[in-house]
Amino acid sequence: MHKIGTKITDVKIYVCGYCVNNLHRAIKGARNETRQFPATAVFFRHDDDCWLFDTGYATRIFKSGWQSRIYHWLNPVVCDAENELVRQLAKRNIPSCDVKGIILSHLHPDHIGGLLDFPQSRIIISEGVLSTLQKRTLSDLVFKSLLPNDMDRRCEVFSCVEDVDLFGDGSLMIKDIPGHAKGQIGILLTEHNLFFAADSCWNSEWINNSLTPLGRFLQNDYTAYLETLQKIQKMREDDLTVVFSHEEVQ
Ligand SMILES: [Zn+2]
Repeated sequence: MHKIGTKITDVKIYVCGYCVNNLHRAIKGARNETRQFPATAVFFRHDDDCWLFDTGYATRIFKSGWQSRIYHWLNPVVCDAENELVRQLAKRNIPSCDVKGIILSHLHPDHIGGLLDFPQSRIIISEGVLSTLQKRTLSDLVFKSLLPNDMDRRCEVFSCVEDVDLFGDGSLMIKDIPGHAKGQIGILLTEHNLFFAADSCWNSEWINNSLTPLGRFLQNDYTAYLETLQKIQKMREDDLTVVFSHEEVQ
């Protein structure tokens, strides 16, 4: 059940563009239909500091060279300037310089698309994400043009094998949720009983479905993917609200 917090407040999910796809070929049992998958980012305050979990798409996804053209062809993206996180926050009088830090779940373009719009924010990543940054392969789906030039200087890297208490007060625990992407992390807002689980599943509707050979190919580690989903199922049974990045926002 979603509760009100005192240390972490003003939690809000933003939809920053979406992609259009038919996951029938990737997920066993999924209906053969084209659907929209929103790219979400999470805003919250901790002790009046503004923080983000991921950044969604931004329009620069259309200007990132051949990689983005192929990505857009396989996974059509819809995003206009009004959908960009930085613009949506500005409408609430939150300038990008007020964002103290950004926790990145992983480096796929629908999660880091807006990163360049927050040039003063600290960037929190896992060791697994750092190793992806240092040794990118094509299948990692990391677009260099979406990454800031001073990423190395601004990154704070955590080993997330054990949960990380980011603020030292137990209000936000970073959790390791590998499988979909190397070093993928989620955030548990303990006071709110709310776990943001990034892309550990595309949609809770399919949490019990296994993946087709294509779907497995699209994961970094399918065994880890299944183990992560088992842990997330246990969290749901323990009455935690789990939110994946591409679910419809209610
Ligand atoms: Zn992803």
